[in-house]
Amino acid sequence: MQAATHLYWFRQDLRLRDNPALAQCLSQGETIALYHYETATESHHEIGAAGKWWLHHSLNALNTSLNHHLMLTQGNALVEIPKLCERHGIQSVCWNQTYEPWRVEQDRKLQEILRKLGITVEIFNGSLLWQPEAITKDDGTPYRVFTPFYRKGCLHATPPRKPLDAPALTSLLPRSDDSLNLDDLHLLPEVKWDESIAAAWTPGETAGLERLDAFITHGLAHYKKGRNIPAKPYVSRLSPYLHWGEISPHQAWYAALACGNDENVDHFLSELGWREFSYYLLHHNPDLQSTNIQTKFNAFPWAENESGLKAWQTGRTGIPIVDAGMRELWQTGYMHNRVRMIVGSFLVKNLLLHWHHGEAWFRDCLVDADLASNSASWQWIAGCGADAAPYFRIFNPVTQGEKFDPDGAYTKKYVPELAKLPPSLLFAPWEAPALALREAGVELGHTYPHPIVDLKSSRERALAAFATLKKPS
Ligand code: FAD
Repeated sequence: MQAATHLYWFRQDLRLRDNPALAQCLSQGETIALYHYETATESHHEIGAAGKWWLHHSLNALNTSLNHHLMLTQGNALVEIPKLCERHGIQSVCWNQTYEPWRVEQDRKLQEILRKLGITVEIFNGSLLWQPEAITKDDGTPYRVFTPFYRKGCLHATPPRKPLDAPALTSLLPRSDDSLNLDDLHLLPEVKWDESIAAAWTPGETAGLERLDAFITHGLAHYKKGRNIPAKPYVSRLSPYLHWGEISPHQAWYAALACGNDENVDHFLSELGWREFSYYLLHHNPDLQSTNIQTKFNAFPWAENESGLKAWQTGRTGIPIVDAGMRELWQTGYMHNRVRMIVGSFLVKNLLLHWHHGEAWFRDCLVDADLASNSASWQWIAGCGADAAPYFRIFNPVTQGEKFDPDGAYTKKYVPELAKLPPSLLFAPWEAPALALREAGVELGHTYPHPIVDLKSSRERALAAFATLKKPS
């Protein structure tokens, strides 16, 4: 048995810098650093395939920055962590709080088990700018609408703490023989579908900080308007790094603030605010992933359409910007926010499919799949969330494409079979003259699908379905 006294448990905070629980743990003395891969979860809480790919590479990077001292276990944390503590004579365990309801429950049980073993537990906030319970309306009730939550609640509360430096690793103990190897976690796919994702991303803290720097230098000054143009490099692409905690929101917040306080900075900060709002909604609605916040939606007449769902998932709907988004997701594990809204609206409104289908597909395919942001965003798209898009707001994918991808660069990149169509015909090829299609080498039904729904009549069907909600049952 080693004479270790402290255990640091990494979760969604796979970084050394600005990691308050890690800094505290290491300052107390000899420390074992652990990542535990949880396998005792229900299937809808499991990390998706793209997320597992990210996690593998992120743990690899973390292990390197910990001088190869990262210990790995897997199984049920309630069993494995107490066992490990007993084996190593651990006196205290530190971690940063996570907010997924199943983890909150697991943390509560683990604390009880550890305390019974005489082990101290210290918990810190490393992942949110404001703790959800700290933000309430004047009457003490939670906010339901984003703008007052952020502008009145968050911005008038105590400002987020300043980011911390990386701690010295002198008290970190080498990993012991009872550690698993990274490959034992089997996080990488057996069938090699991950090459294009690997070409798009470098997981890990160093890459996250480089991404933040690049965005601050090249993207932030264009953010407010540029963030809606998927072909432009004006969004941060920090979402996976924030989800996995390879950078903290505090680092992003203060890096942006250091550039002044113009409309671009203000807008970027407010998007970090949307992340906070998603966690806030999850805190107050633990069933956010499965249950409509607005209960009247429980009676919504969702359609069944297996082939429509498959066409949506594989980017074969015949609606070019929808297909571009779904293929971007498949190829890179990411999709631009504007396009997430377009494909989401198409699924739940034009196809009338339950938002659960979208939530599940995104959860499996996104490298930034995040229980809070994904569930809150799908409820927002479907109109059943707290501060949701009104049900009659049905994105028209043709006009959205014309407006936000005016030269077609984004759509043509992911739907190359339409690359020779001029932008004026690109977003509705079914309306293009036969000659123009022939000249562009497009044969609808062969080289590219016919649209799987008529946009106008499916919009009317959605409005009629939504109208039924107003009637008393
Ligand atoms: P930027 O525009 O650079 O924003 C900076 C950061 O702010 C993001 O990295 C993210 O952490 C946060 N942010 C921005 N917009 C939102 C938002 N609407 N809600 C919550 N946080 C936001 N985001 C996820 O991180 N994980 C998800 O699983 C997820 N699922 C989504 C599903 C749907 C249907 C929709 C419409 C949106 C979803 N989002 C999700 C929100 C948003 O699309 C992404 O956060 C954003 O596109 C990430 O790109 P970025 O880092 O370049 O964003």
